[in-house]
Amino acid sequence: MAEPLPPQYNPQETEDALYRWWEEQGFFRADAASEREPYVIVIPPPNVTAMLHMGHGLNNTIQDVLIRWRRMQGREALWLPGTDHAGIATQNVVERLVAKEGKTRYDLGREAFVGRVWEFVRETGGVILQQLRAIGASADWTRTRFTLDESLSRAVREVFVTLYEKGRVYRGHRIINWCPRCLTALSDEEAEPAETQGKLWHLRYPLAEGVEVAGLPRLPDGRQYMTIATTRPETMLGDTGVAVHPGDERYAALVGRELELPLTGRRIPVVADEYVDPEFGSGAVKLTPAHDPNDFEVAQRTGVATLNVMTPEAAINDEAPEPFRGMDRFEARRAVVTSFEELGLLEKVEEHTHAVPHCYRCDTVVEPRLSEQWFVSMKPLAEPALQAWRDGRVRFHPERFGRTYEHWLENIRDWCISRQLWWGHRIPVWYCGDCGETIVAREDPTSCTKCGGARLEQDPDVLDTWFSSWLWPFSTMGWPEDTADMRKFYPNSTLVSGHDILFFWIARMIMAGLEFRGEVPFRDVYLTGMVRDHLGRKMSKSLGNGIDPLVVKERFGADALRYTVVSGSGAGTDQLLNYENLDETFGPGRNFANKLWNAGRFALMNLGDDPRVPLDEVAADLEPMDRWILSRLSKAVREVTDSLERFRLQDAATRGYEFFWGELADWYLELVKPRLRGDMGDASRRAAQATLAQALDGA
Ligand SMILES: [Zn+2]
Ligand SMILES: [Zn+2]
Repeated sequence: MAEPLPPQYNPQETEDALYRWWEEQGFFRADAASEREPYVIVIPPPNVTAMLHMGHGLNNTIQDVLIRWRRMQGREALWLPGTDHAGIATQNVVERLVAKEGKTRYDLGREAFVGRVWEFVRETGGVILQQLRAIGASADWTRTRFTLDESLSRAVREVFVTLYEKGRVYRGHRIINWCPRCLTALSDEEAEPAETQGKLWHLRYPLAEGVEVAGLPRLPDGRQYMTIATTRPETMLGDTGVAVHPGDERYAALVGRELELPLTGRRIPVVADEYVDPEFGSGAVKLTPAHDPNDFEVAQRTGVATLNVMTPEAAINDEAPEPFRGMDRFEARRAVVTSFEELGLLEKVEEHTHAVPHCYRCDTVVEPRLSEQWFVSMKPLAEPALQAWRDGRVRFHPERFGRTYEHWLENIRDWCISRQLWWGHRIPVWYCGDCGETIVAREDPTSCTKCGGARLEQDPDVLDTWFSSWLWPFSTMGWPEDTADMRKFYPNSTLVSGHDILFFWIARMIMAGLEFRGEVPFRDVYLTGMVRDHLGRKMSKSLGNGIDPLVVKERFGADALRYTVVSGSGAGTDQLLNYENLDETFGPGRNFANKLWNAGRFALMNLGDDPRVPLDEVAADLEPMDRWILSRLSKAVREVTDSLERFRLQDAATRGYEFFWGELADWYLELVKPRLRGDMGDASRRAAQATLAQALDGA
């Protein structure tokens, strides 16, 4: 007889060895040539430099449960893993390392800096994939992908060039979100609004000398004025006009006349535009076209000039009056307000709560900035993606996220995809130094397609990281090549992702799938909530309230971790875990694993090395208790399957727990002991053995 199992479950001795055996046996590998029906999940690729946190723990455990369940059902299950190069995030990390040597990326130069990033990625990258193995993730590691892999880069280029040829990728001079610290453009989604207690300053702009209009108030010196309100007074240095509504009687006589812009000695026009809400404030708004997207649009329509008064670092530049030059934007804000006050032109200051956009990577306040960038025209992509949801070709779990998706797609704006970074996919565009031609090509050109000249310069920018990850469901399968994986495993089946990247990633993948493959990339989208601490706070390094999944594994076992997150996870709802009392949080999961272990141990000792008896052979000898547990088993299996099909993983976990602990362990195992000892005769013993084996297998 085999060695009896130790009486206490020791996950440290069991889990890793078992995992290694599974991996070596190739149990996680999917076969594109298989006849079985495929079931496919692609992992949301973590940043290549990421370290495992509880969010990954939750998200990947859910994927693993679904994959293992389908694999057990006999499907050809593929869980494809990989990592994301994470342009801005990774570049920031390496820039900080370089800064420790007292250098900047500019000191190193582009090539050397990118070399440093690759070096860093090779040394530290992929740690997270090892960590996912440690918590039992049964991904097909032979198919591990990286967004900068050669074949994935080819997919990126194919998509850029194709969209350009269709006129859907274009270069535009526009207001974009700019991070003055990262020194790059950001998409609208990367500029995250944060509720901020700010102020609304009401400033008075006098009418220009010689302009008189009936009905306007006067300053003590007799000049007439208009009042405008702003949350960013420093931008007035770049004002080039004031706009009123065309139907606003109060200002009708002023349209086409001029104001004197304080502090600058400049005269600026009053223009009329429908954009202005006459009911709001004074009904007059300042126009700073170089520093505000709405003002920029008004300026396009009304012909008002554009004046950029800030450096890329968001300091005041030389276009502004002398005293303000070189000031940081917030310093300039105080200085401008003080000057208005001294001139008697500050009408009032109000407290004002509003959403201020912050860089999603470094939390710096984003500055709208006018610059030349590449954009994707999104409306034509959004339409089919909306339709796919309305037709039910793609479903969200929980359903309510469908509305969020719809709202975003209906109001979608063009996507700014160029980044002033060095780490990422370089934009496949070249400019001819001789004739000025723009060349957009799948292969690097050696000469100008128009004049034959060889003085070509590649666009210095790289693409938004999400411009590669939105292709992930098919770029990982080898597209644009027609591969066996592509034919077998696309479309994927289910996507499991945090709801925080619904726009960044999920919606865009649906658009890309429909555009380039004519099919949705996946049928079901399971959205997880966030993992928070027991006080409901986001887990973060700075708060020190995180839980390290690997510490949990060390102390309680990976199964305790997995059981805990799955049994506590409702789709789309946040999960609260107490980081101060890990025993309370993960103890029940460990106890459950231990109970399973003990039942298995008990069974092995009682079944011994006897060949397993099929249930059919003992059908006549089954006793009521055997039939009872078998019927409970088939009921539990039905219910668990049903829960999983409806993506109710917590119900499945609870049901499995109830069956095992409440019915099998507490009742059947106790009742059956005398029979297993042979007290009731051999037939009864064999019937009990067969039933027990079946029930434990099922559990
Ligand atoms: Zn930033
Ligand atoms: Zn040329």
